[in-house]
Amino acid sequence: MIQTPDNFIPLLTPPASKQTKVLNFLFKGDEFLIHETDLSMPDQTVVASLGLAGEHFHPLGSLDQTYVRVASLDSRTQAPAGYRFSKMRALFTALDLPTLALAGRAFQVAEWARTHQYCGACAAPMNRTLGDRSYRCSQCSFMAYPRISPAMMVLVRKGASILLARNIAGMAQRFSALAGFVEAGESIEECVHREVFEEVGLRVNRLQYFGSQAWAFPHSLMIAFTAEYVSGEIHCAADEIAEARWVGPGDPVPEFLRGVSISGELISANLPGNVAT
Ligand SMILES: [Zn+2]
Repeated sequence: MIQTPDNFIPLLTPPASKQTKVLNFLFKGDEFLIHETDLSMPDQTVVASLGLAGEHFHPLGSLDQTYVRVASLDSRTQAPAGYRFSKMRALFTALDLPTLALAGRAFQVAEWARTHQYCGACAAPMNRTLGDRSYRCSQCSFMAYPRISPAMMVLVRKGASILLARNIAGMAQRFSALAGFVEAGESIEECVHREVFEEVGLRVNRLQYFGSQAWAFPHSLMIAFTAEYVSGEIHCAADEIAEARWVGPGDPVPEFLRGVSISGELISANLPGNVAT
């Protein structure tokens, strides 16, 4: 699945060494600039041609000898010859998972920077702070950090069956585990119980942590669990869930997103007949 490469070291300032190679992520909204044929990121020549200098970039980190950084482009920027703008989702099968993870991290920082040029409290200009990934208001000292939205994901099990659901807003016919955003004042466990009941009308217990994943669409932290069915009949929330069904041994497994997301890992690890012991 998409996750930060083990050899990635986060940085808040550029590395001291000038010999370092540079990996430039250039975002325009939720699309980034990528070479049309070899899918490489723009080199320093392209960066210079777009009028970008060091101060336009946010350092992200280092990957062995490569310095990884991101900048936001004006919405009117045209792709230079040989390059195109692409959404991350469109590259799920074309780019390697470590690069997708870095692109997701880059997007979250770029989007935070793009949307925090002015203070949300007093509208004065914001300044980047040193030693921290934050903006500080020049007038009232209000601080703004990259936005991260925790969300729960849960695969409900009932005996040897698992509950898969299709969201009304999701990709056509693709099933997943249940998921939902944490509300203010709520624990992740409370969120699991509330969302399961709201979305499909079931009660669960025995929550077991599975893992987590930064999901940059646009700024979620997915925290995944399994849970055991306790009571209730499936009743889908009409405004959220198009269909939910138990999938047991011998049942056809509907299409689900594999390879990139923790939902795929969670489902694969718990497919009927493959329940972890
Ligand atoms: Zn302010």
